[in-house]
Amino acid sequence: MNAKTLLHLSQRLDRMEESATIKMAQMARDLAAQGHEVISLSLGEPDFDTPDHIKEAAKKALDDGYTKYTPVPGLVELRKAIVEKFKRDNDLHFDLNQIVVSNGAKQSLANVFLALLDPGDEVVILSPYWVSYSEIVKIAEGVPVPVYAGIEQDYKVSPEQVEAAISGRTKALLFSSPCNPTGSVYTQDELEGIAEVVSRFSQIHIIADEIYEYINFTGRHASIGTIDSVRERTVTVNGFSKGFAMTGWRLGYMGAPLPIARACNKIQGQFTSGATAFGQKAAAHALQSDLGPTHAMRKAFLRRRDLMIEQLSRIPGLKVNKPMGAFYIFPDVSAYFGKSAGNYTIQNADDLCTYVRQEGHVAMVTGRAFGAPDCVRLSYAASEAQLMEAADRLARVLGRLG
Ligand code: PMP
Ligand code: GLU
Repeated sequence: MNAKTLLHLSQRLDRMEESATIKMAQMARDLAAQGHEVISLSLGEPDFDTPDHIKEAAKKALDDGYTKYTPVPGLVELRKAIVEKFKRDNDLHFDLNQIVVSNGAKQSLANVFLALLDPGDEVVILSPYWVSYSEIVKIAEGVPVPVYAGIEQDYKVSPEQVEAAISGRTKALLFSSPCNPTGSVYTQDELEGIAEVVSRFSQIHIIADEIYEYINFTGRHASIGTIDSVRERTVTVNGFSKGFAMTGWRLGYMGAPLPIARACNKIQGQFTSGATAFGQKAAAHALQSDLGPTHAMRKAFLRRRDLMIEQLSRIPGLKVNKPMGAFYIFPDVSAYFGKSAGNYTIQNADDLCTYVRQEGHVAMVTGRAFGAPDCVRLSYAASEAQLMEAADRLARVLGRLG
């Protein structure tokens, strides 16, 4: 007689949560498949297509035979282009062997934390933070330590708060600027303040996620890795998904201190062998070409941001922030907690998202997944017509709550 199958998935899975952004996007697709006209403002994905010249470069690369494995950290040509990009845009100076190209910035982050953390090591995460930060840290057996700043601080954490969160086990500080989910942008001065604190603790590395660099409405992107006191201890992560509308290409990269880059290379050599060859060729072309299409997308996002701020500010009960980058708006919705409509009672941001999705057919993501239980995230990477319609629907269904 055959033994019955017994499946015990790893405890690792119990420790981590499913990605709330991806889950919500799927729920929106499911609702649409049932025939509803859903407006999904859930996924952080540009609605623009990849610019044609980048697609053409990939097609040419295929024809030229870029169909084989590349060096694990990426084609030399792409890494050279990244070294130049870091110099040109960020005043960051890396050697070729400090660059590692991965299957998305998500994998870059996973590589870094697998490389850095031993069980129980702590990572201070500036909060609100992108959903995957805490879960990647947990997969790497680390402990996320979120440090929260609310809307009254423009969702930006102060150096004093960072200092208070540091312990003897702190191994890294992680943040994004422009920030997903808030759209807040840390200024050079604010980064100097945080760098000053970190510089006093020699065991702490900084992981700066700059994937929204090109979607910045302040006119200036500041990289913490340029600050002398932490230059040698900063890993700068970036990627092609947002600025070049290349989410499906799965291409991200980092510039890192050499031992960290080597460690990531070693990990990646066992996990994926690196990113797609022809995609890398196209990515090199993207970095070396005129950034006109990227700037045009930024301008479109800015118009949409203004439209969303205007529309959402008219809805009583939404406390709306003024994001200076990325393509998210992150209102505080706590004024609705305790209110009801029909069968729905809103206890928290999760309930509000469910209510708005089911009754208004607008998908947004609960702030709880980003460490901010009083908020919701709306992505305005959608057409202006869709955004207007979404704001109307929101006003209608939120107006019923009493
Ligand atoms: N960091 C942040 C802050 C993000 O919003 C995203 C979006 N997915 C990523 C990293 C990962 O991007 P990707 O893996 O598509 O390069
Ligand atoms: N970064 C995007 C978001 O926050 C894409 C989805 C994901 O990878 O989480 O929605």
